[in-house]
Amino acid sequence: MKKIRLFKPDLTSQELKAVARVFKRSWIGQGPEVVKFENEFKRFVKSKNAIATNSGSAALHLAVSAFNFKKGKNILVNNLTFVSSANGVLFNNLKPILIDCDPVTLGFDLEDAKKKINKNTVAIIVVHYGGHPAEMEKIMLFAKKNKIKVIEDCAHCIGGSYKGKKLGTWGDIGCFSFEEKKGLTTGDGGMIVTNQNNLVKPLKQLRWCGIEKDTWKRSKNLFINKRLKYDWYYEVSREGYKFNMNDLSASIGRVQLKRFRSLMSKKNSLIRYYIKKIQSINFNLLLPYDIQNNSYWIMGLKHKKRDLLMNHLNKNNISTGVHYLPLSKHPLYKKYDKGLKVSNNIWQEILTLPLHTGMSKKDIDRIAYCLNNFQK
Ligand SMILES: *Cc1c(COP(=O)(O)O)cnc(C)c1O
Repeated sequence: MKKIRLFKPDLTSQELKAVARVFKRSWIGQGPEVVKFENEFKRFVKSKNAIATNSGSAALHLAVSAFNFKKGKNILVNNLTFVSSANGVLFNNLKPILIDCDPVTLGFDLEDAKKKINKNTVAIIVVHYGGHPAEMEKIMLFAKKNKIKVIEDCAHCIGGSYKGKKLGTWGDIGCFSFEEKKGLTTGDGGMIVTNQNNLVKPLKQLRWCGIEKDTWKRSKNLFINKRLKYDWYYEVSREGYKFNMNDLSASIGRVQLKRFRSLMSKKNSLIRYYIKKIQSINFNLLLPYDIQNNSYWIMGLKHKKRDLLMNHLNKNNISTGVHYLPLSKHPLYKKYDKGLKVSNNIWQEILTLPLHTGMSKKDIDRIAYCLNNFQK
């Protein structure tokens, strides 16, 4: 019996050809492909600016850094998420305030945030868990009222919208991941989008070792007729990171973006079939799936005997996963565990099933058959 993988990137000869073209040019670092990918991506999400990074984690880290928050301030962030949602908070010497999840959507619980916000709170990092959109309209109202920033972690929801507006463009900054398991991949990679032009300069500087190319602090004599005399010249006035994307990754991303609609519709038809099958055998779906408007990354279940069920599926060559062990359960974040009743329990019941475009309906039949056997 063939193993059914949990995730699998969808790569074709088109991506390979794009990489070959970059090879031929012998410019594989950050170059024209990155610029084109950024331009295409910003049109895709209808954002004014897009800045490519070498990972989604880097994008989230830079998003927090860009605001220059004062040390020790608080940022609200989902508890049921991948560590990278919150790591950027720690890297910036800020304090993560973990927010519980809604028991139905498993996403950001605004009511919990209302209890935990105080005068030290400067921002929210909201994760669109599994691809199901957070209630951005209410969250933005809450943020405006309290004068705090909003960063959207869109690692799971590429292509998704909420009330007709693309996810990633509701908040001040949106961060995407193109890691190999995500809905669009560049191997590793990420993207920051923002409609705020004033954030672009600091973000680009932070992305590339703190380098400022278009300013001159030291001497105005470096310019002749407004053009820089020294092409090589740059200045560094703050610490930056080496978080840029390269042309090899960008060339793959550009093809993936062109193919995105067809990838998404294939995935949606699998999800539709999954839902029908899972409901017919009376299992609980992980999320209130609404494929009409959303772009899902996780297909899953909730089950009281999750671990036994995982073993059973594993024995039948069906890969499964858990997304996620909540942040509060990691040694690094344990001390921030306060009032997280739902997420600290529900994670023991959640299970991720295989979902990728390499699957067929027959695979889902096999999975449903195994689930049904387990029930018996
Ligand atoms: C994948 C993921 C990230 C990080 O993305 P990388 O590209 O792997 O660094 C951040 N947040 C969430 C919720 C993720 O699932």
